[in-house]
Amino acid sequence: MSCLACALTPLGWWALLPLLALQLEAFALLHDARVLGRVTRRPSPKASFENPSATFTWQELARHNAEESAWVAVDGLVYDITEFVDRHPGGKEILLFALGRDATNLFNSYHPFTDVPRVVLKKYRIGSLATFEHPVYKPDSGFYKEASQVLKRYFEENGVDSKNPWNGVVRMAPVYVCFFAAYYAIYCVPGVPFAARVALAVLLGVCQGMPLTGWMHDASHVSIGRSEKWWWGVGRFSLDYMSGSSMVSWRNQHVLGHHVYTNVMGADPDLPTDLAGDPRRLVQQQAWASVYRWQHLYLPPLYGILALKSRMQDLTEVFSKHTNGPIRVNPISVQDYLRMLSAKAVWLFYRVVVPYVFLTAVSRPQLAVLFLATEFTTGYWLAFNFQVSHISDEVDFLFSDTAKRESGKCPAVYEQEWAESQIKTTIDYSHDSPLAAYFSGALNYQTIHHLFPCVSQYHYPTVNPLIMDVAKKYGYEFKVYDSYADALAAHIRHLRNLGREGKPAELKLE
Ligand SMILES: [Zn+2]
Repeated sequence: MSCLACALTPLGWWALLPLLALQLEAFALLHDARVLGRVTRRPSPKASFENPSATFTWQELARHNAEESAWVAVDGLVYDITEFVDRHPGGKEILLFALGRDATNLFNSYHPFTDVPRVVLKKYRIGSLATFEHPVYKPDSGFYKEASQVLKRYFEENGVDSKNPWNGVVRMAPVYVCFFAAYYAIYCVPGVPFAARVALAVLLGVCQGMPLTGWMHDASHVSIGRSEKWWWGVGRFSLDYMSGSSMVSWRNQHVLGHHVYTNVMGADPDLPTDLAGDPRRLVQQQAWASVYRWQHLYLPPLYGILALKSRMQDLTEVFSKHTNGPIRVNPISVQDYLRMLSAKAVWLFYRVVVPYVFLTAVSRPQLAVLFLATEFTTGYWLAFNFQVSHISDEVDFLFSDTAKRESGKCPAVYEQEWAESQIKTTIDYSHDSPLAAYFSGALNYQTIHHLFPCVSQYHYPTVNPLIMDVAKKYGYEFKVYDSYADALAAHIRHLRNLGREGKPAELKLE
């Protein structure tokens, strides 16, 4: 015991943090759902499947949002897939996110190359959806079907795996080499001037951000590799452990919210949640205040806080209030809580405790400066990469009326089909630049990413012209700027325009 105490002395008792993390992780692994979250299956009675004439409200659908009673709605029909959850070829974990909600656009965009899932789904039908939580999009005009076929043919004819994970591994390996080298130089090498340490802390922030727009983003969309091991391994390593945030939180916000309801006020968690009181005025429906006149000046500097905020949002919203903006969060397993705790403990240990213990050459205020330099850099990296893609003066913004939703008066139907909406709410830039694709995680090809999130980002430069051609045939044009600077200018212009006293609300509902 005394030996253990001796061994721990140089680190202080803070060293127990990673040990605690390992313990929590092992506990979570050993006590999987079979033990901790014992599930009693409650599929609908057999008669419901044989005579699927019942109608349900979206609130009724929402109550069946867990493994023991798993319902989804696709194209206005309700399915009880409780018996199918464990047999989902894409794994159970990702399916659990979709339960209890209208999963039409998730279903279509994650199975674009096959009709088999639709055939399988048929036998689980129990009824129809009478009311909708959010307005629905117009049915596919044929564009998305044809674009999917073109893409499928490309992968088949060229013998290419649409989710090949090794592209990501090769591209991220040098980033992690830089990450660990920068970390070591900042915190473990004596005699380095403080200004050089700050510069390295900025580099560390870039190297923390690049894997997030890179392979973490793909992992959250199940587009790196073909198994849960890849998705959760890559995702949790880069987002939970290395960055102290949460894959569960990100998937709720980005995959369920932002990708399905892109730029839909009242449904996209990336937009302000309330019509008044947000520091950002991004859509016409928001009430105007005089302070917004300067939002194009004060918002960009505030973007740096984003990375820090995401470390809190999982605790305050997703894990406690069970909501991520307008998106309901499905029940979270004990394992997920334990894993969140263990990841936060590891991040806190290597980012705060180790520097505090080992880096005695600099003062504590200087340590805080180094920490914030890294965090703000990551925040800017993520914000400026993501914001220019959708908050721009040339994209559409749609509106989901919360009052109507609560009173059950939805569905209203958007004027656009879903795939069309993805094109009209998204900006691309620098299509000819491999460097832009590498450093942004192919966010310069954001439109095709929104259309086909289940395809690895490393294919986008090659297949994008094929999809742009199909879009043109249907009268849809991708918006592409020549450079990132142009896209950024359009983002700032949008902030400035919306900051001026606004025009009347422009509703996009029929
Ligand atoms: Zn995405």
